[in-house]
Amino acid sequence: MAKYIFVTGGVTSSLGKGIIAASLAKLLQSRGLRVTIQKFDPYINVDPGTLNPYEHGECFVTDDGAETDLDLGHYERFLNIPTSQANNVTTGRIYQTVINKERQGDYLGKTVQVVPHITDEIKRRMMLLGEGDRFDIVITELGGTVGDIESLPFVEAVRQIQWELPEEDCIVVHLTLIPYLAAAKELKTKPTQHSVRMLSQEGVHPNVIVCRTEHPLNDEIKKKIALFCNVKTDAVIEAMDASTIYEVPLKMLDEGLDRIVLKKLHIENRSEPELEKWKDFLSKLKNPTNQVSIGLIGKYVELQDAYKSILEAFIHAGAMNRCKVNIVDVHSEFLTQENAAEHLKGLDGVLVAPGFGSRGVEGKIEAVRYAREQGMPFFGICLGMQMAVIEYGRNVLGWKDAHSTEMEQETSHPVIDLMHDQKDITSKGGTMRLGSYACNLESNSLASKIYGSSVIHERHRHRWEFNNTYLNDYKKAGLVLSGINPENGLVEIVEIPSHPFFIGVQFHPELKSTVENPHPLFVHFVKAALDRKQAMSENSHIQTVSASIA
Ligand code: GLN
Repeated sequence: MAKYIFVTGGVTSSLGKGIIAASLAKLLQSRGLRVTIQKFDPYINVDPGTLNPYEHGECFVTDDGAETDLDLGHYERFLNIPTSQANNVTTGRIYQTVINKERQGDYLGKTVQVVPHITDEIKRRMMLLGEGDRFDIVITELGGTVGDIESLPFVEAVRQIQWELPEEDCIVVHLTLIPYLAAAKELKTKPTQHSVRMLSQEGVHPNVIVCRTEHPLNDEIKKKIALFCNVKTDAVIEAMDASTIYEVPLKMLDEGLDRIVLKKLHIENRSEPELEKWKDFLSKLKNPTNQVSIGLIGKYVELQDAYKSILEAFIHAGAMNRCKVNIVDVHSEFLTQENAAEHLKGLDGVLVAPGFGSRGVEGKIEAVRYAREQGMPFFGICLGMQMAVIEYGRNVLGWKDAHSTEMEQETSHPVIDLMHDQKDITSKGGTMRLGSYACNLESNSLASKIYGSSVIHERHRHRWEFNNTYLNDYKKAGLVLSGINPENGLVEIVEIPSHPFFIGVQFHPELKSTVENPHPLFVHFVKAALDRKQAMSENSHIQTVSASIA
């Protein structure tokens, strides 16, 4: 039977519960245990698919088409195993299930209540991944902060599970903040004491306390936290700020988080953690021999979390190339034909980001034009690929009004159009083309060279597509449609062979990049940017030399 670890958060949000949960999972996995992580979010949306990135950051999509919280991205990047529909549950999803059952008459005659009906459904879902001998350990991260009204039913469910299971089968790890008061030059434990007390009032007693802190915790402070939070001193774990999230598992290893967890779960005699690949990645990441600047052209660039997986995929790909990737945020809303060169000329490559709606699309099209005309490495993802198709239509094929019907219904050249099976869909939640689909690659194309294979599987999240009515026009004009869905002929990849590196993909490769398997498209894009940078500097060297000879 699986054992359960719950991770709660206290004092403030944004403490990095997802990273701590993923790091603990990584350490347990590295000792040969089968581990999965799930996230329970207290909001009422059935999933985060309907949330604006400004509200909740990127929406992460799983192979089986779930639109989920971005923390699932961290779980996959750390563990290198896919998550699924079951790994992210919201209050909305719980209520939807209970209300549907009520309408079907499953509770006939009974008053349906938060306790026990909602809490029972939460418990059922919390235990689900532990069934069927697939995992030794299921880690559940509870979204929100202890004390929030909306997370009460989740905490109550944890209380009941803890009561029902043997002590050694279920533990609670509480992540909290130890603030430093500069004026007093002191670390303060009181907020942590309060948050643990609040959790205890709700009936849940944490077994391990992980303390986020900017300064090291000395023994005296650890003892104080232990005493007032009712745990032994070895169960107080310091979590100092790290220079990269990928360092956190090693820091947690040094602090003994995995050891105390294994002790509490009565899992004995595990082998030492096998983290060679991880350490190798980290050493490459920390010791780059080169650097490149990549422009991220998007409309949510002011919010880091909006493009989380893209940024992480660049970190993986950078390490692989031993190259630091500096991301230069370029707000697509303010990019115009007049100022494109000024914003983009110093870059080594351009990535046009995914997105929805018309805000900022003209700027994205300008970025594509600039990269295409200047021979600058270009990578377009989802909307970014669609913008590449529009740009080619307008500036190479000469269709000045080429557009996507998402933004311009009346265009006479709808080169990007709503997918056929989307035409009758009116409801917004969970209705896009979602999840993993196969794609056949044209032999000798850039894509097939990069992937080193003729069939790939990538994840999707979109409603519009390349309009196949224009297939031949584009082909004749030199655009190679190098990736095609074998079932319905949808164009998934476009590229320009005469350009040093120009590729647009309808899917989201960033969602499949992990520490152990950096995504090949990102790896080759960074490599292309590096090549360009080197070529440019050699050129300018030659120019300087010839100028000085003259
Ligand atoms: N808005 C576009 C579509 O729905 C692109 C979506 C995306 O970039 N994820 O097709």
